[in-house]
Amino acid sequence: MMRGMTDAADATDTADEPGAADTAATRLLDLQRVDTEADQLTNRRERLAEREQLAAVSGHLNEWERLRATMRARMDELTGIIERSETGAAEIATHKERLEAQMKTVIAPREAEALMHEIATLDEQTDALDMTEIEALEEQSTIDDQLTDHLRSEQGLREAVASAELALQRATSEIETELTALADERTARRAALGDATLARYDRIRASSGVAVAQLAVHRCEGCHLDLSAAEVDDVKDEAAASDGVADCPNCGRMLVL
Ligand SMILES: [Zn+2]
Repeated sequence: MMRGMTDAADATDTADEPGAADTAATRLLDLQRVDTEADQLTNRRERLAEREQLAAVSGHLNEWERLRATMRARMDELTGIIERSETGAAEIATHKERLEAQMKTVIAPREAEALMHEIATLDEQTDALDMTEIEALEEQSTIDDQLTDHLRSEQGLREAVASAELALQRATSEIETELTALADERTARRAALGDATLARYDRIRASSGVAVAQLAVHRCEGCHLDLSAAEVDDVKDEAAASDGVADCPNCGRMLVL
């Protein structure tokens, strides 16, 4: 792609001379055009609607997974509560059997009374553990229903993410192809410029975005400031002496005529 070559040539004073259009100035403008186009494409790639769509559906899936994990963790917690209640109740039952056996050998009424009191306390503890277990079982049953409901939306969410990924992949691959072509063109354009010119171009581009600006009558199109008549004369002399490239006295960009 060598778009804009003619436009750039027209902008030089010597466009009517065959071959004279190929100056550092026109080569810089061509390089800048390629770089600008690549920047715009890179921006477009980052701001694709398909990318936002993917972020949105991935967010839904993440939230869905978070909820599933919360429910499963609570199910596990409740299983632990149920197991501990059962173990506790079994230990109390063993203890109670021992006390009941003891009861049969006791003669003193005060001792019997103390044992009966202890057995009553164990019964209360068993009741409390049974209650805890029942509540845990009920909660598990509720969460199990919720989890079953929740799992129904999994497939739809995963499909939405997969199709958003595919859409983004398609959209980016078109841009990637264009960017690859531009990268090749850029390499060729840079090869046609000297190291010092390129270093200066890269430095100004990094700091100001636009490195090469055209002089429109007496205004720099980079900083949009007017040059005085004397400055315009200086710029023209400088450009004539250095392959069509001068410095803007206001912004320091590479000024081409
Ligand atoms: Zn300027």
